[in-house]
Amino acid sequence: MMPDDMSRPLIRERGDGGARHLEASVSDPSTPVIGILGTGDFSRSLARRLVASGYQVVVGSRTPKRFVALFPEDVEVTTQLEAANQADLVFVAVYPEHHSTLVELKPALVGKVLVDVSNSLCINQNGPSNAELLADYFPESSVVKGFNTISAWTLQMGPRDGGRQVFLCGNSQKAKNTVKSVCHRMGFIPVDMGLLSSSLEIENMPLHLFPSWRFPVFCTSFLFVFFYLYNFLRDVLQPFVTEGKKVFYKMPIEIVNVTLPSVALVMLALVYLPGLLAAFAQLRSGTKYNRFPGWLDRWLTTRKQLGLCSFMCAVLHTVYSLCLPLRKSARFKLIAAAYKQVKSGVEDPWVDEEVWRMELYLSVGIMALGLLSLLAVTSLPSVANTINWREFSFIQSTLGYCALFMATAHTLLYGWNRAFDLKQYRFNMPPTFVLVLVLPFAVLLGRLALCVPCVAGRLRKIRRGWERSRHVCFTLPAEDCRNGLENVSNV
Ligand code: NAP
Repeated sequence: MMPDDMSRPLIRERGDGGARHLEASVSDPSTPVIGILGTGDFSRSLARRLVASGYQVVVGSRTPKRFVALFPEDVEVTTQLEAANQADLVFVAVYPEHHSTLVELKPALVGKVLVDVSNSLCINQNGPSNAELLADYFPESSVVKGFNTISAWTLQMGPRDGGRQVFLCGNSQKAKNTVKSVCHRMGFIPVDMGLLSSSLEIENMPLHLFPSWRFPVFCTSFLFVFFYLYNFLRDVLQPFVTEGKKVFYKMPIEIVNVTLPSVALVMLALVYLPGLLAAFAQLRSGTKYNRFPGWLDRWLTTRKQLGLCSFMCAVLHTVYSLCLPLRKSARFKLIAAAYKQVKSGVEDPWVDEEVWRMELYLSVGIMALGLLSLLAVTSLPSVANTINWREFSFIQSTLGYCALFMATAHTLLYGWNRAFDLKQYRFNMPPTFVLVLVLPFAVLLGRLALCVPCVAGRLRKIRRGWERSRHVCFTLPAEDCRNGLENVSNV
């Protein structure tokens, strides 16, 4: 390549001078001429990306003279009819409400591919979709739905990790293949979603607001409010009511810091509980072909989000804990304790048991956070794609249970022998850690039960297709031949 080529901009702005069309498109007659109807944000970004990918682009506008300056030099801006006549493939970048105004272009668009990029304002549950309505207006063209999940911003910046998939659907395979090759050339990854009847699903995609996060966020919020109120009653209200002690200063940090780990641990247990319930349901019914109840199905699909919520609470707990000694109240308490000790004549305040408890408590807590971080990182699609299923299930299941065990041990070491101290049962309410430990203990015991050889063997057989009612006889491969896919740890 000559130095001149390197210094020449990929896209020429209007007024830069030079040839009107890109050499790539001129020299390759098989490259389709791409038309875009509409001159709005999406059209401008799409035109730039297409020109940068070597396509000849012609834009159709109701008032071409008004918008011509907004497009690069290499783009021809003309009337809608002229653009429809010239183009082999046409992107319809106008709002669906205005699709009907394009019907006079029908004869010019016969036999051509129309790409509907439109989105709706709200989720359309029943259809018909915008693309289906467009196909009704242009029965002699091949309508392909796509690009609506890509923003004008992404088009302008170029495909980046995470925003590279373009979901497509349409009734003509030939038309879809043409659009797919355009996608590839622009650097996007086309995902074929089948016939045009899938267009409603594709149109609804950008309108969803965290559908898989609703239950986990609700759970986290509910548990946070519950444990916060519980801790407030025990640690703030009880001293005020019984002894007149005003410890309301504990509300912003101390109470939150006791609440966060409680939520984190219960949420982590909730990640593993549905897998156990599913395993026990399969053992009970003696088959894996019975459908789980709907609630269990939904719960199983939100485990990743539940785990990430648990991780967030654990991280916040760590940050709050690190901030504890920075508070004025902590410094005053320390000085008061030292003064009390001097006054009472105690020379060595070292309590061996307390020291050991604290060291172990912190160490196990750090380990649990480390493991949770690993689980969170491997749940990222870009990381999960680099490991195989066995590795993923080892991390998420085996190491996940280790994290649950460590977090449970952290809570046990925090509580130590205080569960047996009657003074801790303020307002007759058990200490928070006792309450919090119930679910993780149940999950860990359930997991242990699944490790009992006869139970594990039966579950393994069921997961390989054995059914109690059908009495199908078969033997599993030897222990060392298994690839781990049917490992019962995969709960
Ligand atoms: P926009 O900026 O409002 O542009 C719409 C264009 O439609 C206008 O510039 C206009 O161009 C043209 N048009 C043709 N007939 C029209 C009529 N009867 N009334 C009004 N305008 C008419 O909208 P946009 O953001 O580019 O979005 C265009 C389409 O792309 C929409 O269906 C949208 O859902 C979809 N989309 C947009 C994005 C995005 O990030 N913006 C992302 C995904 C999908 P002329 O005046 O030159 O004819």
